[in-house]
Amino acid sequence: MSGRLAVVGLGPGDLRYVTPEAEAALHNAEALYGYGPYLDRVPARAGQSRHPSDNREEGARAAAALRHAAQGANVAVVSGGDPGVFAMAAAVCEQIEKGSGSWRALDVVFIPGITAMLAVAAKIGAPLGHDFCALSLSDNLKPWDLVERRLDAAAAAGFVIALYNPVSRARPWQFGNAVDRLRRHLPETTPVVFGRAVGRPDERVSVTTLAAADATPADMATLVIVGTRETRAIARPGRSPLVYTPRAAAEVSA
Ligand code: SAH
Repeated sequence: MSGRLAVVGLGPGDLRYVTPEAEAALHNAEALYGYGPYLDRVPARAGQSRHPSDNREEGARAAAALRHAAQGANVAVVSGGDPGVFAMAAAVCEQIEKGSGSWRALDVVFIPGITAMLAVAAKIGAPLGHDFCALSLSDNLKPWDLVERRLDAAAAAGFVIALYNPVSRARPWQFGNAVDRLRRHLPETTPVVFGRAVGRPDERVSVTTLAAADATPADMATLVIVGTRETRAIARPGRSPLVYTPRAAAEVSA
């Protein structure tokens, strides 16, 4: 079978964040699949077809792209950030596993991108300098009580926590609830970083504490990093603070 499917990470924002490997895969594709606003970030190329779809249609989009590649085309599916982080790469694998056996013979490649937590961390210092984990606060694909248990476990174990999907119009209360939950384990002074639309013209990065975190506006374009007991903010004259988590764990860290 001669078709090819590339699952491509676009990074968090504008083209500076697209790796040369991703750029080449996008350029070579005859057909592009993805969530409309992500496809809009990819420069137009003559002769390339575009197949935008809604954000909630990951499975159907992956299957459509696989069908197209199985006809012999060179197809790319795009994700914001990294395709393996809460995005299309797993959706494609899922379709290959349960789909027509012929999809297993396709040439499928995954091309990494800069995920939001790394882009946000780099804007503010080194909040992910020691052990960390990433959690999606979306309860579309898992029950909320599982989110709570994971927050408890992560905070109690002393991980820095990167929170993807903190808020959406359909999920207004989850972020406040998560902050409440984390206050059971962490001091009120724990640094919390908010990065919004990082890598885009309207980028905004701010630092607050766990005490004030639920009063800070967050939306679908925001990633939140909650520190540990060891994470600290260094005040700097005339510059934004540097937030970092030391390389060595304190003896009793959680
Ligand atoms: N695959 C993506 C994540 C998809 S989940 C990645 O690797 O980054 C979508 C969530 O990612 C958003 O709700 C937000 O929490 C985060 N996000 C994506 N792009 C972002 C950006 N430019 N700035 C801050 N957060 C971002």
